Amino acid sequence: MTAVPGQRSTAASSAVAGQAAEEDLRALFGQSIAVFASLAGSTHVVESANPAFFAAIGGERARTGVAIAELMPELADQGFIALLDEVYRTGEPYTGRDARVVLGAGPHAREAFFDFTYEPRRDASGTVTGIIVIGVETTQVKHAQRLMVEHRAMLEQIARQAPLTEVLGGMARCIENLAPQQMLVSVLLADPDGRHLRHGAAPSLPDFYNEAIDGIATGEGVGSCGTAAHRREPVIVTDIATDPFWDDFRDLAEQAGLAACWSTPILARDGGLLGTFAMYHRTPRVPQDTDLALARVFAGTAALAIERHHVEQAKAAAEARARTAHEELAKAVRAERQLRAEAEHRAAAAADLADRMRVAAAAQAARPHPEHCQLGGAQGCTASARIKVADSWGDAAWGCEAHVEEAILNVRSVFIASEELGGLAAYLNR
Ligand SMILES: [Zn+2]
Repeated sequence: MTAVPGQRSTAASSAVAGQAAEEDLRALFGQSIAVFASLAGSTHVVESANPAFFAAIGGERARTGVAIAELMPELADQGFIALLDEVYRTGEPYTGRDARVVLGAGPHAREAFFDFTYEPRRDASGTVTGIIVIGVETTQVKHAQRLMVEHRAMLEQIARQAPLTEVLGGMARCIENLAPQQMLVSVLLADPDGRHLRHGAAPSLPDFYNEAIDGIATGEGVGSCGTAAHRREPVIVTDIATDPFWDDFRDLAEQAGLAACWSTPILARDGGLLGTFAMYHRTPRVPQDTDLALARVFAGTAALAIERHHVEQAKAAAEARARTAHEELAKAVRAERQLRAEAEHRAAAAADLADRMRVAAAAQAARPHPEHCQLGGAQGCTASARIKVADSWGDAAWGCEAHVEEAILNVRSVFIASEELGGLAAYLNR
């Protein structure tokens, strides 16, 4: 280590050395994300603090010369003032890891996590005169851990085949809750032809907006989502008010209070378009690397859910088709069986009639009868008259086998005349 000109000599008093160390600490943490504050006395008056400290507690509270309990009244109930008192009293430093603290109050309250130390300051005689607070905010790490937990829960939901709208709606709400700033999530689903986008899930966007967007075409310049779907790559619109992609939707977005929209396409493993995943903001915003990473993670998860849904849909459709085919086959088998039964019945009836005609012809052969069939109609019939038939009106005629059969089958009241039974009895016994 090289000597720095102007550096204080180690021979200086320890009190001065302590002061120098504090200055160094201030310089060291001045530009870093670590928070630093120097507190004095038993009431822990804020003597100095770095910009990160004031940014963390809320810039509007950037004041020195006041007791920390006055500057941040929310700390007392959370035990942090008691801890300071303890360090001040005992002179023992205190280290906290991933400590949860709620900063601010009311609508502006925010949850944060810190790794921190309370280090006692001492004067030349070793008496504790104050406390140095050094902390590193771990909120982002915490959020990342929570994200992992939420993400795993979603994967489990997909695995147990929860309905797609449930999975996507849950995912949207989860991201909205995890985001440090207000963010509104929208998932659109691509039509099978990939040329239109349908409403998927957007629990925080107004209904009129979702309805207006439902069915938009994919294409260059069709808002963030239509363009992202068309390009198959993320489209970041940081200010809807001025972006040409939003020319056709600017009024709609304004009505819904939307100022920025970052859209990431949801792609299948084969590169096919499944939909889009969009993050909307109330004010113009440029995404951070972490925002884009978050979008990639969730677009990937949505892809899993949608592909899974497609597989389930295809399976259900195939099952329905198989069921229909089976029913059709059963119906055809039933119809065929019925036709065969009817044919068999007709054949039996025809055989029975042929028998009866043969018996009648034999019985009537000896009766006096005309030579030719009388049932040939206008054309007449030259076949021999073989069988006598009658009808319920009492008419009777002799006919050939063919015309007698035709008459019996087609004229309900016609029957084979029977000398033994007579007209009506033969008719009733036919
Ligand atoms: Zn005839």
